[in-house]
Amino acid sequence: MMLRNIEPSRRNFLVGAGKFAAVAPLAASMPWGAARAATPANACPPVSAWSDLASRVSGGVLRPQDPFFNDVCRPNNLRYNTLPMGIARCLKTEDVQGALNWVQQQGLPFAVRSGGHNYAGYSSTNGLLIDMSLMAGVEVVDKKEGIVRVKGGTGNALVYKDLERAGLTITHGRCDAVGAAGFLLGGGIGFSMRMYGIASDLLTGTTVVTADAKIHKADAKNDSDLYWACRGGAGGNFGINTEFLLRTFPAETVSVCQLKWTDNQADVLHALLTRLPNMPNTFGSKINVTLPSIQQRCQGIGSEVSILAQLHKTKGKTLKDMFGPLWETAQKVWVHEDIPYWVAQDYLAEETYPYYYQEKSSYVQASRISRDGVQTLFDAGRLQPGTSMPVAYKFFQTGGACNDMRADATAYVHRGNDWLFSVEMNWWQPTDPQGLINDNLTWQKDFYALTNRTFSAVGAYQNFPDPTLDDWAKAYYGENLTRLREVKTKYDRDSVFNYGQGIKPL
Ligand SMILES: Cc1cc2nc3c(=O)[nH]c(=O)nc-3n(C[C@H](O)[C@H](O)[C@H](O)COP(=O)(O)OP(=O)(O)OC[C@H]3O[C@@H](n4cnc5c(N)ncnc54)[C@H](O)[C@@H]3O)c2cc1C
Repeated sequence: MMLRNIEPSRRNFLVGAGKFAAVAPLAASMPWGAARAATPANACPPVSAWSDLASRVSGGVLRPQDPFFNDVCRPNNLRYNTLPMGIARCLKTEDVQGALNWVQQQGLPFAVRSGGHNYAGYSSTNGLLIDMSLMAGVEVVDKKEGIVRVKGGTGNALVYKDLERAGLTITHGRCDAVGAAGFLLGGGIGFSMRMYGIASDLLTGTTVVTADAKIHKADAKNDSDLYWACRGGAGGNFGINTEFLLRTFPAETVSVCQLKWTDNQADVLHALLTRLPNMPNTFGSKINVTLPSIQQRCQGIGSEVSILAQLHKTKGKTLKDMFGPLWETAQKVWVHEDIPYWVAQDYLAEETYPYYYQEKSSYVQASRISRDGVQTLFDAGRLQPGTSMPVAYKFFQTGGACNDMRADATAYVHRGNDWLFSVEMNWWQPTDPQGLINDNLTWQKDFYALTNRTFSAVGAYQNFPDPTLDDWAKAYYGENLTRLREVKTKYDRDSVFNYGQGIKPL
């Protein structure tokens, strides 16, 4: 691969402060250089341009030869571990403006990254990675109304810690390492959503730097179309969000449990899927049907049904009441009644490490779920070829307050359902040969189509982006797509923000 305007590497810089940043040049001999089509045909900024960028970005600029470069830019899904030409580490809004101006002057592709947990690699780039993760912090700005300000690159771990200190909570997910930006912009689901709504329902305002580097303070009164689009229109579409204002709730005690069933699994799953939607909005759950890895199968391990559940204080009711007869047949992995909210989240949290995966999702109404339909899923589950990692198909309990908003009230269109279904495929390279991975991905595609047919499932969650999805725009945004395209046209007519499944201007 030819690299232009490049001087041989003389020295590695740990690029921290803007003044000294990014003068370390690329070298064609870098191990990644030939292996990846990393250099866009028309853009290879000279050393002086990198120095110019460094002077605009106060968090520093990293180049491939800098220590920790690969660690900083490694996404959670290793399928998309593309190395960028540089990483601009933004600390403040001016840095974001500077980086945005710079990529456009250079004609370089770019991606915005907060937590790096995008399923489909849409925060990876072979150009400039605009890294927001240093722009982190949470502050209570209106104690009476319970409004907090979350900076644009804050990771969930810090959001949770700071909310805990303030005795507050929101609808939030389970994974500490997910970024608040991606989570909020694409909707945001969690155990409290049946009580408080989808996380983006709690967004009262956001600051966005658009492609022209202008700052928009968007809320119900100002730039209200942009505010509407940021509540479910997904990250990376309209600009770079540098802060979010969120409505919170007092963190009160909750009861949490994990239950498991290995017998009569189809009966159990059917009973869970049809019973739990009738429970009060104070109840939230996520069901997993786990299919074993190839190695586990050799050890005689089969599939299992398990559930994680949370119950906010509910007059006269306990977790046991939520499950009825299913409680007696369950193996109680753990049960904790009436414990402080954030202590409970330690039990519900998931810790993940980067690996290889693909997810497919859709929304289901409980009335469409029959015992025969559930059996169909179990029969099809037995046909999964298997990889070196277990996989699961999952049902996140929606309903309740998630359905209180009209479908067009915000960009998050998926209202009027009881479950968010998703089927994952996980593998590890090179342990799993490509042929086996392909067979499993084919199984996943067929299983997804079968579930959608069987349960009349529709749509797909834009925060679980699936690069293989046909008609993804309709699946993610439904009837809100046209309005989203209007907003895109108004704020980013030239598609400066652009990715595989990005919203297109009209
Ligand atoms: C292990 C794991 C657990 C998860 N758990 C949950 C869960 O419990 N609930 C749930 O709802 N979802 C969950 N998700 C999905 C997650 O919410 C989305 O993948 C989310 O978009 C990730 O956000 P991020 O900031 O980490 O990702 P990134 O990859 O950094 O960004 C995601 C998208 O937003 C863009 N973006 C990033 N920062 C900004 C910004 N500041 N301004 C504008 N655009 C930006 C990126 O360009 C990209 O397109 C999970 C994902 C994983 C991998």
